Amino acid sequence: MSGCEARDAKKLVRSPSGLRMVPEHRSARSPFGLDEPPWVPDKECPRCMQCDTKFDFITRKHHCRRCGKCFCDKCCSKKVPLPRMCFVDPVRQCAECALISQKETEFYDKQLKVLMNGATFFVTLGTSDKSELMVCRLSNNQRYLVLDGDSHYEIEIVQISTVQILTEGFTPGEKDIHTYTSLLESQHITEGGNTRAIGMILQYKVPGSEELTQMKFTASEDFSCNKKLSATWLAAMHKATKLLYESRDQ
Ligand SMILES: [Zn+2]
Ligand SMILES: [Zn+2]
Repeated sequence: MSGCEARDAKKLVRSPSGLRMVPEHRSARSPFGLDEPPWVPDKECPRCMQCDTKFDFITRKHHCRRCGKCFCDKCCSKKVPLPRMCFVDPVRQCAECALISQKETEFYDKQLKVLMNGATFFVTLGTSDKSELMVCRLSNNQRYLVLDGDSHYEIEIVQISTVQILTEGFTPGEKDIHTYTSLLESQHITEGGNTRAIGMILQYKVPGSEELTQMKFTASEDFSCNKKLSATWLAAMHKATKLLYESRDQ
């Protein structure tokens, strides 16, 4: 078992927001994780930040665990899983945050498993004209992309600087290429439809080097049974990239 597959020790911590299961070392945390927000202090919020109801002995205030703002019970009643902050149980969130967290549930329930199961791609390193058939998957601790073929690579997710998802009918360099910028828009990469993902270009830093290394992944045409799996994997990677950038921007 290589270093990147080691099961990182975890510990249970209690915060005002609830119980959390976090890695013993901060360096071992998931690249998709989010920090707990600071709570808006009680004295700074006499009224619900959504419906403006005044707080008193009957109308109590509650903090949303995701944004840290103050709400009345009606505006902050939903308890939704929040795995990105490592909460063990579903936690209280405002309507806006609950919606975002519910959408992320699909990533944690389905797409994360797709990424960990892996898919097959032709992989080209840098400007080389040779490509190698490799199985690419996310490590169990979510921190590495692991590539296995005749060669073996482990790319640390935090070292990845750009992810471009390539879609059918376009070649790299054309304007319709999906880059991180497009991830902020509503464009959707699905496994079916007319925007099937067929490849990906990663740029990442190799520790000890300042230059970026580029790696291109192409879904294999020869293995038609795997092509759908590769497209599903790329769609999951697309979603993962969005989460990754959110985690970095926090
Ligand atoms: Zn309210
Ligand atoms: Zn909120």
